[in-house]
Amino acid sequence: AIPLVVAINTSLAARNGMLVRDRIAMEQARDLDTVVFDKTGTLTEGEQGVVDIATVDGVSEPDALELAATVEGDSEHMIARAIRNAADERGVDRRTASDFEALKGKGVRATVDGERIHVGGPNLLSDLEGEVPIELERFAERAGKNARTVVYLLRDERPVAAFALADVIREESYRVVDALHELGLEVAMLTGDSEDVARAVAADLGIDTVFAEVLPEDKDEKITELQEQGRLVAMVGDGVNDAPALTRADIGIAIGSGTDVAVQSADIILVQNNPMDVVRLVTLSRASYRKMQ
Ligand code: ADP
Ligand code: MG
Repeated sequence: AIPLVVAINTSLAARNGMLVRDRIAMEQARDLDTVVFDKTGTLTEGEQGVVDIATVDGVSEPDALELAATVEGDSEHMIARAIRNAADERGVDRRTASDFEALKGKGVRATVDGERIHVGGPNLLSDLEGEVPIELERFAERAGKNARTVVYLLRDERPVAAFALADVIREESYRVVDALHELGLEVAMLTGDSEDVARAVAADLGIDTVFAEVLPEDKDEKITELQEQGRLVAMVGDGVNDAPALTRADIGIAIGSGTDVAVQSADIILVQNNPMDVVRLVTLSRASYRKMQ
């Protein structure tokens, strides 16, 4: 039988927009000392926009968009959608491509007219041979300082264009970080995005610790590192790439609109997709379980 107090607490949680899959997690929440947030789709909106483009080698901006949108194919990644939207907005068509491949946490690639085309971020560049032309490097530096995500278009491994995408920070995210600090918790951010972007977003939000350029398969190790420091850690995420970290954390919290894999890996699901409910979880747990002792 479910103890009455627990039944009450989980229904209270439900009324506060939380679906509790693991009741122990609900109880543990009062002792949390660190909350780790995924950046993209969790602290930021699920959509980004292309706000700037740089090209070299005589490639025009429409050409760059055309190739990039083609290679992104029908990828559901937010970056892919942003690039396709930018191409559509400018009335740029797609070309035909083959051998589509998604490189998890790095980018995508395909063959267009016999050329190997890649679109991806810093993790992709470090895998490939091509040097980044100085113009694109400067563009990326400037964009990074403005908290923009940069992805590159590569033709046969040579970077020929860069796209700056703006992250839209969710309004609630500002309040979440402040409120968690007031409760005495530390806040960290975990992302596959570049160090520059991660730092700018973290600085904007007042986040204490940043783990950037983390590959999907390494996200859970960062949680372990924190746990080895003796912390009780909650992870909040939405993506497939967050699933192992959600499982590893003492409390895994999924954004309700997140991917099925994330939701299935979590102890608690935020049904209203509001990161502010993490704060409610801690206060509710503190209020409920103090009474039991
Ligand atoms: P996050 O951890 O922030 O949710 P991901 O692990 O999905 O991000 O992706 C990490 C990085 O890999 C992105 O910031 C981007 O640089 C690159 N990337 C992943 N997928 C794509 C794609 N479809 N197109 C371009 N770049 C991509
Ligand atoms: Mg995400």
